[in-house]
Amino acid sequence: MSELAYPYEAPASQALFDRAAAVTPGGVNSPVRAFRAVGGTPRFMVSGTGPYLTDADGREYVDLVCSWGPMILGHAHPEVIAAVQEAVARGTSFGTPAEGEVALAEAMVERVAPLEEVRLVSSGTEATMSAIRLARGFTRRTKVIKFAGCYHGHVDSLLAAAGSGVATFALPDTPGVTGAQASDTIVLPYNDLEAVHAAFAAHPGEIACVITEASPGNMGVVPPLPGFNQGLKDACAANGALFVSDEVMTGFRTSRAGWYGVEGVVPDLMTFGKVMGGGFPAAAFGGRADVMAHLAPAGPVYQAGTLSGNPVATAAGLAQLRLLDDAAYETVNAVSARIQSLVTEALAKEGVAHTVQTASNMFSVFFTDRPVRDYEDAKAQESFRFTAFFHSLLSNGVYLPPSSFESWFVSTAHDERAVERIADALPAAARAAAEATA
Ligand code: PLP
Repeated sequence: MSELAYPYEAPASQALFDRAAAVTPGGVNSPVRAFRAVGGTPRFMVSGTGPYLTDADGREYVDLVCSWGPMILGHAHPEVIAAVQEAVARGTSFGTPAEGEVALAEAMVERVAPLEEVRLVSSGTEATMSAIRLARGFTRRTKVIKFAGCYHGHVDSLLAAAGSGVATFALPDTPGVTGAQASDTIVLPYNDLEAVHAAFAAHPGEIACVITEASPGNMGVVPPLPGFNQGLKDACAANGALFVSDEVMTGFRTSRAGWYGVEGVVPDLMTFGKVMGGGFPAAAFGGRADVMAHLAPAGPVYQAGTLSGNPVATAAGLAQLRLLDDAAYETVNAVSARIQSLVTEALAKEGVAHTVQTASNMFSVFFTDRPVRDYEDAKAQESFRFTAFFHSLLSNGVYLPPSSFESWFVSTAHDERAVERIADALPAAARAAAEATA
């Protein structure tokens, strides 16, 4: 077993991590789980109930990650579990159409007005990849505008990061992404409409779509400035491009109708994942019926999936969506606001410069006293304070996302007891943040 980096680290998780590292690159199946940004041993969880996760050493944590968003009703919600058990008992995959996928699509279309038609896939990455392909097929153009700090899954062309300046052609910053793929992606600073107008002016008739997180959560929570999303929509409409709003994170979390329900800007295409899958691999893209009509088998743009619309995943997603009524969002919003104010109170008491940013019930804490409007602002925070804060909370049974560039997530299951446990753990964490050195 490798040496324990932190005194309170869990030996059973460490042993599992060592086993994992022998058979899986970096010991994890998704990089951010590896704790590389904060150091220490990733916790291997064995069960989840309501707002709690229990690790392999038997320690319980209040979960502020919620599987990176999906578990908005908490873990193992009895009605979701019952729906899954009922579906599993009827078989796990048919490779044919089935009623569950129709019902889930209907539930989504009913909630989100601009969603006229929807195609189910298995991950958010697949959803954005397919939406981009459809946008290119529909417009017969190649270039895509995305924003620095926005994450849309590990789609080759969307991993390209920015060179500085307006309308710069991005270079691949991940080996394996070709120059051709990257050069079709124009990466711009977030919340900068001028940059968008300049890019359209520099590439007349070439831009297929603008894709943006509806309200970004992948550089920490950096909501759009008033008018930004509408400005994107207008710029797309004026230039014959499609406006693609990525609601994989915000969809059915930030309101009954996702970020669209908060802001009301109508996209041409939208992408979904996380909450709509109820903790299973289900995602979707959809939008204007005339655009979706270009998808196979109705149209020529090919897209498919062996497990798309999987009966167990659709049962879980549908059960979760049915439980997400107005009262559920009120509960999640209230608990989120409560935790935000506890965090602010604790950090202010220790004199730690910080800014809490929110998008409905999504929120994150930046260790800077300046507002964060884009990725450059987010990177300027004192992340070393987050590391100390994170480990103190972890050692006291509160599980935060292991990175200062992520949203925190809460659920309807975060009750008074869970909030009290966070409140009890915060003073020491704020002190650790105050005392941290770069
Ligand atoms: N889009 C956004 C906004 C996301 O937050 C994510 C994942 O975090 C994705 C796309 C990719 O989804 P997945 O991890 O299911 O491939």
